[in-house]
Amino acid sequence: MGNSHKYVYLFSEGNGSMRELLGGKGANLAEMTNLGMPVPQGFTVTTEACTQYYNDGRQINEEIQAQIYEYLGKMEEICGKKFADPENPLLVSVRSGARASMPGMMDTILNLGLNDVVVEGLAKFTNNPRFAYDSYRRFIQMFSDVVMELSKKRFEEIIDDVKAKKGVKQDVELDTDDMKNLVVLFKEFYKKEKGEDFPQDPKVQLMEAVKAVFRSWDNPRANVYRRMNEIPYDWGTAVNVQSMVFGNSGNNSGTGVAFTRNPATGEKALFGEYLINAQGEDVVAGVRTPSPISKLHEEMPQVYEQFADIANRLEQHYKDMQDMEFTIENGKLYMLQTRNGKRTAAAALKVAVDLVDEGMIDEKEAVCRVEPKQLDALLHPTFDPEALKKAQVVGKGLAASPGAACGRVVFTAEDSKEWHARGEKVILVRLETSPEDIEGMQVSQGILTVRGGMTSHAAVVARGMGTCCVSGCGDIVVDYENKKFSLAGKDYHEGDWIALDGSTGNIYGEAVATVPADPGSGYFGRLMGWADKYRQLKVYTNADTPRDAAQGYAFGAQGIGLCRTEHMFFEGERIKAMREMIVADNTEDRKKALAKIMPYQQGD
Ligand code: ADP
Ligand code: MG
Repeated sequence: MGNSHKYVYLFSEGNGSMRELLGGKGANLAEMTNLGMPVPQGFTVTTEACTQYYNDGRQINEEIQAQIYEYLGKMEEICGKKFADPENPLLVSVRSGARASMPGMMDTILNLGLNDVVVEGLAKFTNNPRFAYDSYRRFIQMFSDVVMELSKKRFEEIIDDVKAKKGVKQDVELDTDDMKNLVVLFKEFYKKEKGEDFPQDPKVQLMEAVKAVFRSWDNPRANVYRRMNEIPYDWGTAVNVQSMVFGNSGNNSGTGVAFTRNPATGEKALFGEYLINAQGEDVVAGVRTPSPISKLHEEMPQVYEQFADIANRLEQHYKDMQDMEFTIENGKLYMLQTRNGKRTAAAALKVAVDLVDEGMIDEKEAVCRVEPKQLDALLHPTFDPEALKKAQVVGKGLAASPGAACGRVVFTAEDSKEWHARGEKVILVRLETSPEDIEGMQVSQGILTVRGGMTSHAAVVARGMGTCCVSGCGDIVVDYENKKFSLAGKDYHEGDWIALDGSTGNIYGEAVATVPADPGSGYFGRLMGWADKYRQLKVYTNADTPRDAAQGYAFGAQGIGLCRTEHMFFEGERIKAMREMIVADNTEDRKKALAKIMPYQQGD
């Protein structure tokens, strides 16, 4: 390839400082590889390739294609498997990864490389045909959704149909023949919609998937997320092509996500969830309700120990709380992702201060770790304790994102937006949320979901927004059609008032008054103390009245930077003198009126 530009890097060629080029996910996969951690190997197509794709009119040019195929060859050697080889097939995931983390905003495709022949090979090779066909039907589903933009819902309906005919409820109750049947039905549906067969050439599948990830950088929900988080459009996303490991290969396998510390409170303890015999998407999508990570300690003690050790090393290495994704394949642990974990304001404060006490970072660094915007979240309301005494708890879900919320029930993100536009306070009630709901979530006082754990979409996004969320309240029965839900024997209709406590998970079937928060906690005080110690700017306040000035002074302002004097003259008698001054039509009268308001101003 001569002296062409390098658009593709093996994980072993990158490192953690290359996030601009490799994206956050790619850079951290490289860094974990360098640390000798068990990472399924692969390569990263750079953010520059994404920019090039857009410059070329949404095409992957020959040069980049050639490099992708070249690195696929290198990857085959490293993994000791061959792409499209039924004897010992290499299957890959194709994962987006921008510089800044955008959880769930872009698309990932798993199990790529399967076709009608390879799936048979995989069934033989693993001696597990159910697993092989389960992987294949998942791949067809994801590829159709992400790459071909066929409705995800239709595939779910097909699955529901098969389950209903068989009289079972859970995916895990479907056997090999059911999976084979699903593959046939999916392919039929695909052909009907697309007018052609599902692509059988894995190389075509790969290139189409890379293209789809580049394209997903520009999808509406990613654009909304970027605007909200001030992420520039021209950054582009990298694409990671990674060897698959299988959490869905039996009861000695599974997949999960975990934080090194509690992302809601900052408490120092592994915090997370996992599902046995499941593949990645199942946990984050909130399809089944997962088990807490502490249970892994009982179920697979060795894997747990290894994971806890890796988590600890990662935290020491990055000197910050980590958010990790892992998969267990036949009892062996693999790390699939690590990043600095998103956290609530309260957790951000506690973690920053604790890291100083643990000697990992210094005071200056701690101050930089807490985003000013997040401190704002500490100023969120809590319930009025008196009102709370009278309120009745009618249900309980997971305390997914703290704060208190009170509003009227709506059932769709669209309705949230509409009601909000009319000046209503709303609580969005959903079976589960998905990235399309993000704008509606943003304008809701609180979010209540029936399914999904602490790492479900609703929970993660709400924590990022500083919005109260109670997730996974399985006692709720939602009836979208008639716009109502029932809980503890009572129906709640659209427009009824409810209240949520995102710090306890409590649900109240009535309006409960809220009060503003008191940020004067010990952690807040310590961090702000350090901010005062190191800052070089003085802080002056805007104050227009003696009351404002006193308040500003109490909050630590060192002076008044701006005073709009007219605000001194709005109250009581003063406004009259002020009006006289305004309506005076000669200098004499104006001087007289000014003489009246001067003493007020001097007195203030
Ligand atoms: P997101 O950026 O939305 O988190 P990811 O690229 O992390 O998307 O993929 C979602 C999930 O898919 C991961 O958490 C992981 O469980 C699963 N996954 C991705 N790549 C692999 C792989 N190579 N092997 C097994 N599971 C994978
Ligand atoms: Mg991920």
